[in-house]
Amino acid sequence: VGVEVPTTPGRVYLRHEVSMTSARATGLICPSAWLEDGWQDEVVLQFDQRGRISQIGGDPTGLPRAPGPVVPGMSNAHSHAFQWAMAGLAERAVHADDSFWSWRQTMYQFVDALDPDQIEAVAAAAYVAMLEAGFTSVAEFHYLHHAPDGTPYDDPAELSLRIAAAGRMAGIGLTLLPVLYAHGGVGGQPAGPAQRRFLGDPDLVLRCRERVASAAPEVRLGAALHSLRAVTGEQIDALIAALPGDAPVHIHVAEQRAEVEACLQILGARPVAWLADRVELSPRWGLVHATHVDADEVRRAARSGAVAVLCPTTEANLGDGLFPAAAWLGEGGAFAIGTDSHVSVDPAEELRLLEVGQRLIRERRNVLRLGDDGHVGAGLWAAAGRGGASALGRESGRIAVGCLADLVVLDAEAPRLAGRSRAWAVDTWVMAGGAALVREVWVAGRQVVRDGVHVRRSEVGLAYRRAVAGLGR
Ligand SMILES: [Zn+2]
Repeated sequence: VGVEVPTTPGRVYLRHEVSMTSARATGLICPSAWLEDGWQDEVVLQFDQRGRISQIGGDPTGLPRAPGPVVPGMSNAHSHAFQWAMAGLAERAVHADDSFWSWRQTMYQFVDALDPDQIEAVAAAAYVAMLEAGFTSVAEFHYLHHAPDGTPYDDPAELSLRIAAAGRMAGIGLTLLPVLYAHGGVGGQPAGPAQRRFLGDPDLVLRCRERVASAAPEVRLGAALHSLRAVTGEQIDALIAALPGDAPVHIHVAEQRAEVEACLQILGARPVAWLADRVELSPRWGLVHATHVDADEVRRAARSGAVAVLCPTTEANLGDGLFPAAAWLGEGGAFAIGTDSHVSVDPAEELRLLEVGQRLIRERRNVLRLGDDGHVGAGLWAAAGRGGASALGRESGRIAVGCLADLVVLDAEAPRLAGRSRAWAVDTWVMAGGAALVREVWVAGRQVVRDGVHVRRSEVGLAYRRAVAGLGR
């Protein structure tokens, strides 16, 4: 209402003409900062030309001053950006037994309507919303490769490049994971027509990586296997062999009981166990929705250093089930959070639901205890920051020399934080606050959110409104 939406379609952003959001600062003065060994007052951070923290201390002359406590930024370890425009459109009962699988039918219909300009505009808007909530980077699990009829675009990496352009427009730290999606069911079953935009082989994934590496060198590159429904063991072997040894690799691994059953019947093992036998799990592996795992799988996967990528609001929305988080952490497992279908894009809300889900099934409080001092919200934030950085192949999640200056400044003037010491402020933010308490966000030394608003919110928002006009119902 009240916003004029241009109706002329056309290219939303020219891929190669989008500049960075803002100039990189050379440092930041923090009235207080959450460093690796705890909170300190009057901290000066110096940044190098690549946006890394080069020194803690030194000359503060000329540096901007943060308007509140400074904490490490958060990695969003799982995103399908286009689904941001679909959030809410699967919330009407259609079948007596609506489930993940009927949601997927809605998603297939939605995805058929999107052209490259729309995908780019939606992704930029999703990334702006993430940044405003305190995410500083995102792993885009990108399986949308082709035109609606399944034909490859002239440039097979067209949509990967659109995601890279959206990332640059928003100024988010992007790890792009082009997805290998070849089949329609466990054991190499043929894909259906609804999956035609996704299909490819390991060469397509490698091609996307090459094109993005040359066009957008700021993007970190990994790869993803859609799921054991969509790839065979031979394809996994071929792709892994062709990737650099440190490239992040993610997979949707055990989201639904039906896929666990299919794996047991066809492959003779549960998905995580089968994967652990097939590949060398390690910290570069992101096990997305490791929801349905047994005790043996928890032990093997957690001890490998692989990161459990949990998307609590999406998993709740889709009725997936509850990840055994306490058992995973008990084995020393690393975890990260993602927003997946983007029914929420708020890191505090993801962490809160992770913890309160455990409270509800255990009828207890303060279950996921990660810090030395018992602060649950702060412990979750710190651990998810470290796990997310590992899953994204990004040196972040901590305020330390050598890490990127991915930073969130909390709003010291917010009533929610009044009367709180700093450790309690983080608990309050995570367990009782959320995005409204985020005042500034910095990504690799560039400020992208000021006074709670992304520096390009209106521009990106206008393009988004234009892109989705006609998509809603
Ligand atoms: Zn997903």
